Amino acid sequence: MTGFLLRGARPLGGSATDLLLDGGRIAEVGPGLSRAGAEVLDADGLVALPGLVDLHTHLREPGREDAETVESGTRAAALGGFTAVHAMANTEPVADTAGVVEQVWRLGREAGWCDVHPVGAVSVGLEGRRLAELGAMADSAARVRMFSDDGRCVADPLLMRRALEYVRAFGGVVAQHAQEPRLTEDAQMNESDLSGVLGLRGWPAVAEEAVIARDVLLAGHVGSRLHVCHVSTAGSVEILRWAKGRGTSVTAEVTPHHLLLTDELAATYDPVYKVNPPLRGREDVEALRTALADGTIDAVATDHAPHAAEDKDCEWAAAAFGMLGLETALSVVQEAMVETGLLDWAGVADRMAVRPAAIGRLDGQGRALEPNAPANVVLLDPAARETVDPSRFASHSRNTPYAGRVLPGRVVATFLRGRPTVLDGKPA
Ligand SMILES: [Zn+2]
Repeated sequence: MTGFLLRGARPLGGSATDLLLDGGRIAEVGPGLSRAGAEVLDADGLVALPGLVDLHTHLREPGREDAETVESGTRAAALGGFTAVHAMANTEPVADTAGVVEQVWRLGREAGWCDVHPVGAVSVGLEGRRLAELGAMADSAARVRMFSDDGRCVADPLLMRRALEYVRAFGGVVAQHAQEPRLTEDAQMNESDLSGVLGLRGWPAVAEEAVIARDVLLAGHVGSRLHVCHVSTAGSVEILRWAKGRGTSVTAEVTPHHLLLTDELAATYDPVYKVNPPLRGREDVEALRTALADGTIDAVATDHAPHAAEDKDCEWAAAAFGMLGLETALSVVQEAMVETGLLDWAGVADRMAVRPAAIGRLDGQGRALEPNAPANVVLLDPAARETVDPSRFASHSRNTPYAGRVLPGRVVATFLRGRPTVLDGKPA
């Protein structure tokens, strides 16, 4: 047996054709292909997209293997249609040295479910005081190109400036978790009339927007590349639009949950809806969808944030921030963006594979489904409707906000350089 013949798939949702994957590459694309020895997969009615690339995944290893491991998190990624993920640095120990990023990178290679690109911390220990060894992480076997203190904001403007200046040398990017710390002390949910009614400390939009405004100015000033994590407010979108309009090198991501869910869910006091940044209002959700559709926001990123049950099954104020994302991302994007007519499948491929790969400087990912491209492919059934059942997740954690909800679409198969990681919706 050599290779896979995907018969009748619809690349980017277009007309049906065949794709032959062989030798780790897409060998041929066209109708009526045949190849002796290739395994034939009936892809009638399935949409083929480039393997998805996540810019923002928390794999929790090293340190919190009870919540997730590199193996379980990347298996979840493959089931969600991803062929590459960026692993955030807020592990224990923090990924702020060449040693830790190489460890995570190696664990990813051993697991084999998808490519793992470690994100290096900006500051030592995420403490926001001294720059971490950015150059050593860039030169390591993990070849780190994205740096972030995610989970915390690089609040010190001088440290942010230094980081932006430093990463220019190797084409890196600083990914900012935009959260002004003083404005969000003990904050629990979006600041609104509802936060007052519920008695939960408000998290004002300006706490995000002020940091993004500062950082796009800094990035423009030093001529470096800024990426804004999990944009959540309409005001942030306006700032990004302004910065891009004046030629600043800034990119931005939005999470699936910020495209679908609103702060009204906090009224349940169920901590499964507690997330950082918080769920916002309906007008914010509309602005985020519009910005993703028009390209002001470049990418969807999951911010997959697994938490052990004891960190989530408690009262709201004590619970950890974060939601699972990898195994439901594509379905949520289908519901929020495709079924609303805001994006077609080519647009989804662009925002979930092509642009994230470009932001992360990943040569072998996010490529068009054309001959000679690496065979990173996801096949999805857009007609499927499934009830989300967290007990079936590959993730070690269960903190999904979609449990029991019917979502559209189903990942049927994922191929990483021609090798199936998922077949018939199951790990291969
Ligand atoms: Zn974050």
